Amino acid sequence: MTAATGTPFETDGQRALRTAVAALGRRHADAHDDDPGVLWREAGKLGYLGVSLPEEYGGGGGGIAELATVLEELGAQGCPLLLLIVSPAICGTVIARFGTEEQKRRWLPGLADGSRIMAFGITEPDAGSNAHRITTTARRTPDGWVLSGRKVFVSGVDLAEDTMIVGRREDTRTGALKPCLFVVPRDAPGFHRTAIDMELRAREKQFELVLDEVRLPADALVGDEDAGLLQLFAGLNPERVMTAAFALGMGRYALAKAVAYAKERRVWKEPIGAHQAIAHPLAQSHIELELAGLMTRKAALLCDAGDDVGAGEAANMAKYAAAEACVRAVDHAVHTLGGNGLTREYGLGRLVTASRVARIAPVSREMILNYVSHQSLGLPKSY
Ligand SMILES: Cc1cc2nc3c(=O)[nH]c(=O)nc-3n(C[C@H](O)[C@H](O)[C@H](O)COP(=O)(O)OP(=O)(O)OC[C@H]3O[C@@H](n4cnc5c(N)ncnc54)[C@H](O)[C@@H]3O)c2cc1C
Repeated sequence: MTAATGTPFETDGQRALRTAVAALGRRHADAHDDDPGVLWREAGKLGYLGVSLPEEYGGGGGGIAELATVLEELGAQGCPLLLLIVSPAICGTVIARFGTEEQKRRWLPGLADGSRIMAFGITEPDAGSNAHRITTTARRTPDGWVLSGRKVFVSGVDLAEDTMIVGRREDTRTGALKPCLFVVPRDAPGFHRTAIDMELRAREKQFELVLDEVRLPADALVGDEDAGLLQLFAGLNPERVMTAAFALGMGRYALAKAVAYAKERRVWKEPIGAHQAIAHPLAQSHIELELAGLMTRKAALLCDAGDDVGAGEAANMAKYAAAEACVRAVDHAVHTLGGNGLTREYGLGRLVTASRVARIAPVSREMILNYVSHQSLGLPKSY
């Protein structure tokens, strides 16, 4: 099956990367090594984690197109690295584009080789999908900042040396969000985390964070405190493309398992894959994943061309299409395996929950439909 591979929309280099990363994922899956930390370190050594970051800071000099390829191919082998979405894609992109020279030298080489991880926190308990309501507040002091607030569902805080926190300045506390981005070290006094008990089987846990008067030096602020949403979206567009890649990989993995099973399993004369009730949903998923893959590559190209506005629409659409294709592919795959769809041995049951992550985060299906209704179609708002 050639799902999402070999398109003419990729360069020879991107195709070679796809093949090499798929081989790494296969080796890791074959070794039955359940510790994703081993894969993270190996992928880091091979330059895959930093493929989108600038060469002068230890990266590969590619773009989000390459990084999305890495995540998709690892996912297609059943071993996605969720933190690629936040560490190099969001935090790495924002620092590379808006950080000072000193900040780039401090953080980017570690993010590029994977020896340093940076988590990213924007979601708040009382804001959720409405980021304009976030209340994490930064107060200026003579030598820096004091940050206070709460975040929720932040992934990988325990694995990350630092977390990039989206806050707002005390003097812009209400009204339309004017985000400021701060890098908070894991051991900063007043930075507390509690793991949330999620129905997900993954190394990357989600955390609730309390920032209780966390004192930060002046250079914890990344970018311009008055730049507004532009800097944030420079990180959030890659996040959406990467979530699309995460969904594509998982969808392809589930589909491949189901197709292999449907070719072998016989309960009547022919294998179950000969019944159209089994075959058509799998064919439908193959088509939907291919289409979502094309949209994801378009969005990545726009991101990498620096077209933040065009990338905004395309990245939202790609995330929507890939998440929906993934949820349906997992649903069809589980059903194809009958009872085995829910056994641990076949590994598909856990994807029922995991695939829903792509529909909810980082922006829900409904918020994308709202965005397209308002921004693309010019329809009026209900909220
Ligand atoms: C596994 C996982 C990992 C995550 N990792 C991170 C992370 O690393 N960092 C981080 O900051 N966040 C993270 N998140 C949080 C994620 O981005 C949020 O869950 C998401 O943005 C939705 O916010 P919410 O959960 O508050 O839902 P809510 O905003 O409460 O929405 C609940 C439901 O209401 C719907 N809804 C809300 N408003 C509207 C509207 N106007 N129109 C129609 N429907 C509406 C939504 O679509 C959704 O279905 C993660 C979440 C998960 C599940």
